[in-house]
Amino acid sequence: MAALRVPLVDLQAQYRSLKPEIMEAFGEVLDEMQLFLGPRTRAFEQQFASYCECLYGVGVSSGTDALVLALRACDIGPGDEVITVSNTFIATVEAIAMVGARPVFVDVDPITYLMDWRQLEGVLSEHTKAILPVHLYGHAAEMGPIMEFARAHDLRVIEDASQAHGATYNGRRVGSFGDVGCFSLYYSKNLGAFGEAGICTTNNEELAERLRMVRDHGSRVRYQHEVIGGNYRLDELQAAVLLLKMPYLEQWNQARQQHARFYTERLGDIVAQVPQFRPWATHVYCYYVVQVEGRDEFRMSLEHEGIGTNVHYPVPLHLQPACAKYGYTRGMLPVTEAASERIVSLPMYPELTAEQLELVVMTVQKALLAGAHQA
Ligand SMILES: *Cc1c(COP(=O)(O)O)cnc(C)c1O
Repeated sequence: MAALRVPLVDLQAQYRSLKPEIMEAFGEVLDEMQLFLGPRTRAFEQQFASYCECLYGVGVSSGTDALVLALRACDIGPGDEVITVSNTFIATVEAIAMVGARPVFVDVDPITYLMDWRQLEGVLSEHTKAILPVHLYGHAAEMGPIMEFARAHDLRVIEDASQAHGATYNGRRVGSFGDVGCFSLYYSKNLGAFGEAGICTTNNEELAERLRMVRDHGSRVRYQHEVIGGNYRLDELQAAVLLLKMPYLEQWNQARQQHARFYTERLGDIVAQVPQFRPWATHVYCYYVVQVEGRDEFRMSLEHEGIGTNVHYPVPLHLQPACAKYGYTRGMLPVTEAASERIVSLPMYPELTAEQLELVVMTVQKALLAGAHQA
């Protein structure tokens, strides 16, 4: 098949726009040859943390590792339960499993696809230690009631903000509400490195210190290991790129919002559901997710016309073989399960051009009208 006319994400486009600066930054790091936890890592940590309205940032090796470190810093381990959602990337649950704890799922709001906090009470047990909400697709989870519930029951809160760099809840940035905010800096996220990277944010000095220790073999001073840690360091080449991209994050998010407005205006009456946002939230559209009937045929006809699509995510985690041991079966999270059969993500990245946006809209219209004609 021919190359896609509009890919789901175009990483080359962003690279081209910054190529000379990126090459120069790489060159500087290599000339200095301080490859881990150097000045660029520290500068990026500080800038990203203050962007998130947090005091501390701890750069790590990936978003998955950010979650693992956050859980470990909060002393969550075997015998503990962590309440989360099933419609997320597997990493959310992997991190819980990696520390030996058990994921407990609640269903989501059918409009926003985000954690339904009204269900927290029903799954609370004597083993519950933490809540792990996910700011899915770029929309903030409803942090007010989640934090209130956590405080009432003395639970930790760890935010998975891997798809929501810069999103806000009641005017405050995600990653600043819970004990620790966890961000992936994977290359296709709203802010991305050219390899693996992630960051934890927190306002708690003690947690920041523990995160830093666990990230680097449990030590503050080299060869003195106070706790068992590991190698979860952010490398300096990635930090250099992230530092360079950081000033663009706001304008990239605004471009995503503009593209989303265009899609929603043109597709609102055609697809079964466009992304919604709550008045208390800003949406930064890591993904632009619509619902359509006959999703799989719809995807095929778009793909045929050169428009990239994806499904985030086709099989909810509670129904994955990897999670069979937790004892969930189909029917237990009906909102999540129903959404997973109808959702589809359309091309979304800051550099989308007006022609590309128009082409996507026209192709979606054509696909759905043809579908309706057949039915
Ligand atoms: C991308 C992502 C992660 C994992 O991040 P990596 O950097 O790929 O390890 C975790 N949670 C969510 C919701 C994500 O989208």
